[in-house]
Amino acid sequence: MSSNKAISHESGVKKRALIHHFLCAYVGLSSDFKRSNGDRICPKCQRALIQKNNDWNVVGTFPPKNYSPKAATDS
Ligand SMILES: [Zn+2]
Repeated sequence: MSSNKAISHESGVKKRALIHHFLCAYVGLSSDFKRSNGDRICPKCQRALIQKNNDWNVVGTFPPKNYSPKAATDS
């Protein structure tokens, strides 16, 4: 029995993927999507994310690469 465990350590600050579910237009962190039988479940519509780039897609990461704290205070 070979279980393919490619799970990284969840401790510490880690970038998460921002996932866009096309079917219901939900956008959220990958950690918001529960896992069931290897599939991610959308927290909004409770449907599984099946086909990447068809049903869902990764639209970015959080925190974003180009995050600049200056932009928030600049008025
Ligand atoms: Zn959804």
